[in-house]
Amino acid sequence: MLIRKLKLSGFKSFVEPAELRIDPGLTGVVGPNGCGKSNLLEAIRWVMGENSPKSLRSGGMEDVIFAGTARRPQRDFAEVVLHATDGEGEELEVTRRIERGAGSAYRVNGRDVRAKDVTLVFADAATGAHSPALVSQGKIAQVIAAKPAERRMMLEEAAGIAGLHVRRRDAENKLRQTEANLARLEDLMAGLD
Ligand code: ATP
Repeated sequence: MLIRKLKLSGFKSFVEPAELRIDPGLTGVVGPNGCGKSNLLEAIRWVMGENSPKSLRSGGMEDVIFAGTARRPQRDFAEVVLHATDGEGEELEVTRRIERGAGSAYRVNGRDVRAKDVTLVFADAATGAHSPALVSQGKIAQVIAAKPAERRMMLEEAAGIAGLHVRRRDAENKLRQTEANLARLEDLMAGLD
């Protein structure tokens, strides 16, 4: 998957709508300390479905919304739109928006979807909020110190099979529900004999 464009509005320090075109090849982001370089990487993780406060350097979900400064009032929402091209060359537009007091909403190519659907879109393309392709500060040391189970998760993500775990869990839940229904049906039928 190739990320082509990122649009941010009200996300962390990006109070004004900002658009970043990412051309093929190597892209470097340079700027003084605290100008928002890491916030950009976090915006990519966030639109991919990340909720972990540690990954987003935030206390609560709404901390990603521009919090205001001495001269600017806070914003009521944050929105990130990611444009990408998937492995088959199809265009993909993923939007995540959070409003104060209303939680997050996701859209894929203009259609409302669940957070889980967004996670699966990226997991199937062997990427996602936890992809080793997104290297934040301190990440290298973390990879070196990772436990075997954590390394396995990284390999599964790189192989594009991480989404299978979610689907397996869903299938197991459905199976359990169906077994419970069958048991209830048998009880009812025994009552009819
Ligand atoms: P460094 O080079 O030091 O790692 P950086 O360029 O990666 O810095 P970031 O860490 O991305 O910078 O940005 C930090 C800035 O973002 C800080 O000025 C912080 O106040 C601002 N910031 C973070 N969250 C919010 C928010 N919710 N509202 C407003 N500003 C925010």
